[in-house]
Amino acid sequence: MSSSILDLNGIAKSYNLGKPNEVQVLRGVDLTLQAGEVVALVAPSGAGKSTLLHIAGLLDTADEGRVRIAGEDMTGASDRRRTRVRRDDVGFIYQFHHLLPEFTALENIVLPQLANGTPRKAAEDRARNLLEKVGILARADHRPAALSGGEQQRVAFCRALANAPALLLADEPTGNLDPTTSDQVFGTLMELVRDTGLSALIATHNLELASRMDRQLRLEDGQLISL
Ligand code: ADP
Repeated sequence: MSSSILDLNGIAKSYNLGKPNEVQVLRGVDLTLQAGEVVALVAPSGAGKSTLLHIAGLLDTADEGRVRIAGEDMTGASDRRRTRVRRDDVGFIYQFHHLLPEFTALENIVLPQLANGTPRKAAEDRARNLLEKVGILARADHRPAALSGGEQQRVAFCRALANAPALLLADEPTGNLDPTTSDQVFGTLMELVRDTGLSALIATHNLELASRMDRQLRLEDGQLISL
């Protein structure tokens, strides 16, 4: 039995396939993330990081290649099965928090759990536990607009982990913060990931942040190269 959480084999993706303005973004990407492994995805803007993360997280489909998540081969899977695996096994963090503005920090972490069938009391307990881990339990009843950028992003981390995924995919998770806040918030994210034993693929163009992860991969000319 393999203990890999994410397997990508020969992933290819083009936009405007077959048209004069075709862009080949991914040209045979291979990647295996073992359980508990945290890998940096380093690439300049436009190299295809978001495309790769969306394919890995089943938000988009590849033109060629196989995606396996937590042992399940998703090649040719129905939309229903893709949605289930995405909901149960994958957590996403983006550069912008995308929290629901009309709900408190706590509710933003509770809602995905309710959608997944967790009883409210258990969902609230878990949300509080996560907020405590990222050091902002005192902000639980604040709406996003009343939180600082760093606090908003910490809530977004908790929301991504709300349903205890096996795989975390993050696209420039601290890219919207000033350097000092980014450094602190990134430290919190790493502690949270290590604490939960998650596997994570984290895109960043910050080489110092990348160096704090287990491995660094660069996306170049549509392929991954070990740094
Ligand atoms: P990154 O996240 O590294 O900045 P993206 O994955 O967003 O890169 O984009 C990679 C390339 O694919 C870019 O050249 C971008 O313009 C192009 N691209 C992304 N999405 C689309 C789309 N829906 N249609 C056409 N081209 C796209």
